[in-house]
Amino acid sequence: MATKTSKEIRNGSRFMVLRSVYVRGTVTRAQISADAGLSPATVTTLVGELVAEGVLREAGQVSSQGGRPTVTFQADPDRGALLAVDVAETYIRVDLFDVSLARLDVERVELATGTPSIATVAEQIRECSRRLLARHRELDGRVLGAGVSLPGQVDPERGVDVFAPNWGWHDVPLLQPLEQALTVPVRIDNPLMALATGELWFGAGRRFRQFVAVNLGTGVGAGIIVDGQLLRGPGNSAGEWGHTTLVWDGRACRCGRTGCVEAYVGVEGFRTTLGEISPGHDLLDVTHHRDFMERLMRAEAAGDEAAQSALLRTGDYLAAGIGNLVNLLNPEHVSVLGWITRYTGAELHDRVRERIAQECLPGPSRTVSIGFTEADGEGVGLGMAVLALEAFLERVGLPSSSSSQTTPSPREAADTADGWVIPRPGATD
Ligand SMILES: [Zn+2]
Repeated sequence: MATKTSKEIRNGSRFMVLRSVYVRGTVTRAQISADAGLSPATVTTLVGELVAEGVLREAGQVSSQGGRPTVTFQADPDRGALLAVDVAETYIRVDLFDVSLARLDVERVELATGTPSIATVAEQIRECSRRLLARHRELDGRVLGAGVSLPGQVDPERGVDVFAPNWGWHDVPLLQPLEQALTVPVRIDNPLMALATGELWFGAGRRFRQFVAVNLGTGVGAGIIVDGQLLRGPGNSAGEWGHTTLVWDGRACRCGRTGCVEAYVGVEGFRTTLGEISPGHDLLDVTHHRDFMERLMRAEAAGDEAAQSALLRTGDYLAAGIGNLVNLLNPEHVSVLGWITRYTGAELHDRVRERIAQECLPGPSRTVSIGFTEADGEGVGLGMAVLALEAFLERVGLPSSSSSQTTPSPREAADTADGWVIPRPGATD
């Protein structure tokens, strides 16, 4: 097994420092040291670099145990802004964050049904961000970067959408049209990696180093965190658990294959199961995905037996799918996220927890915990803001390890890395 280089260790330490600051809000060096398990000297060096770049600033002083005042630090919201774009199959949402990752404002537009081109998508993003930034003139010239999440399989290294089945996109170049539309450096990824990054920074990642972030929505996937780092694979497609086979020769999946996990536990999986239990059920005609889930859960709560059975059976499928992940990866924890968790109640959670012991080997099932996070639908935006922040830090020579799969560029050459001029603290006021 390859040992880590000193650069990798340093990038890992930088991530731990950043997460301590961002999770706590205001923090002393001693608290960072305790959170991150790093020596005071390392913390002083890493905090010093982030202060010099203007990402962190001194927040004030607090009394320490010996009575001597000690300095506190926080992320500097005045350093600049980040755009986080969530391109879903039915809408585009653009969030504006400051560098402390506080959400400042949002714009949203519905996408017409059909297959849009990247030019159409980029134009809609341009319009949304123009309207958003028109309300924040104080940020003119101070947007440090953007993170754009697109559906399907995305390769951030090559800047292309490898495969978006619903839109029929194959190897579509994304980076240039998006950077032209947003006029700042763009980091692309998909919703699965965005949600997993958010969970790594602000959710289960704070307590566990080996965990899986299962995303349940229209699409289904699993962000796999190994040793505190998101597993991407050479083509950024690690975690496509939704397209692993749950039932051989089973239901048709939108990826073109059959029997995939997604065809059983995604929204269309719920619908197919309901149809199998009760052909002709009223809800089968509700095409809008969120309406369907909301009405299914209302019916279940009102005692509709078919809805209740569909929910329990989906819990069984989900337990089987999660059981495969647990057997394969032996994680400490599984976080179940995604917008579906907002609608499904305790019945689904209890069913999965009840069944998981039967669905996996006794060893890993005894040590794994399973948590359901009621995602508010804004997780993708937060994750993309984090990725945009990390991409910015990488451009200025301060990479962190949580998501990066690139070799960092040397700090000396960083100011104009990729042809972008990096605004420095104070230089844009
Ligand atoms: Zn599939």
